[in-house]
Amino acid sequence: MIVIMQVGATAKQISAVIQRIEEMGLKAHLSEGQERTIIGVVGDDRKAAERDTLGLLEGVERTMRVSHPYKLASREFHPKDTGVPLNGSVVGSKKVVVIAGPCSVESKEQIIETACAVKEAGATALRGGAYKPRSSPYSFQGLGEKGLEYLAEARQVTGLPIVTEVMEPGMVELVSRYADVLQIGARNMQNFPLLNAAGESQRAVLLKRGPANTMEELLMAAEYILARGNSNLMLCERGIRTFETYTRNTFDLNAIPVLKSRTHLPIIADPSHATGKWEYVGAAAKAAIAAGADGLILEVHMEPEKALSDGAQSLRPEKFAELMKQMRRVAEAVDREL
Ligand code: PEP
Ligand code: MN
Repeated sequence: MIVIMQVGATAKQISAVIQRIEEMGLKAHLSEGQERTIIGVVGDDRKAAERDTLGLLEGVERTMRVSHPYKLASREFHPKDTGVPLNGSVVGSKKVVVIAGPCSVESKEQIIETACAVKEAGATALRGGAYKPRSSPYSFQGLGEKGLEYLAEARQVTGLPIVTEVMEPGMVELVSRYADVLQIGARNMQNFPLLNAAGESQRAVLLKRGPANTMEELLMAAEYILARGNSNLMLCERGIRTFETYTRNTFDLNAIPVLKSRTHLPIIADPSHATGKWEYVGAAAKAAIAAGADGLILEVHMEPEKALSDGAQSLRPEKFAELMKQMRRVAEAVDREL
């Protein structure tokens, strides 16, 4: 960080700033210009509260951050891509993984039938929510632990690993007993106790970007999980809220190359929630691969018209299988595999 002093700041004010920097356990590097003095803060100054107080000292015009507020998630700290193992593949390698399945687990038959269909089409993992974060308390809330049991049965039948959502810290242990990957949903991206609990678990984590969160906030949320020692972490762009109403969310395609440049963590795209309409899912999925996504998470339902959640954005198995073929061609065009 650098501290820019006001024009005409006194020597006393400058030494007070230096003293405060040293009290913080950091070093001050003084640069006296013709007009004003600039003080460089040398050392790890990520503690936001302390950093912000420097700006309050007399004679200080403003402070400017030089390093990112996240460290463990940053490419500077960890230049090499992090790979997360998933079903014999590595998320964050040349291979683009596909996680597919229904929004919610609705019955044993439904999840097993869908699991077989997505496996047949070449999916890497099965998704399905047993605990559902719904906007309305009157909407289907998920089957709970029964849903987890059905997911485990679907894994037994197909061999596909399970990606499923956990909504509260106290549930991490239970969900981890069944899941291969813990999904932290968009609405919970800044549920800090949940991030801490996921950071302490042994399971891989898929962390979704909140609908109104910046990429920096997503990276700071990732930092919580990394700081607790879990680096089996994937980030997910699932669309953000804008003024647009023709789609459910606005797919932030930019987030893919931007996040790839800022972090070593793999980036997954969720065109289902990003568009909210099955007819646009394919275009967004292909664009995500072209933009450098390491994987996709896609909602697939045997009978979308009867789905208990997110039917409008769910692909029928035939459409999903067709899209897999198209995505494979896009992946090859950008020197990836699917
Ligand atoms: C989901 O994956 O079904 C889901 C609820 O997603 P999000 O948290 O991105 O809304
Ligand atoms: Mn959904």
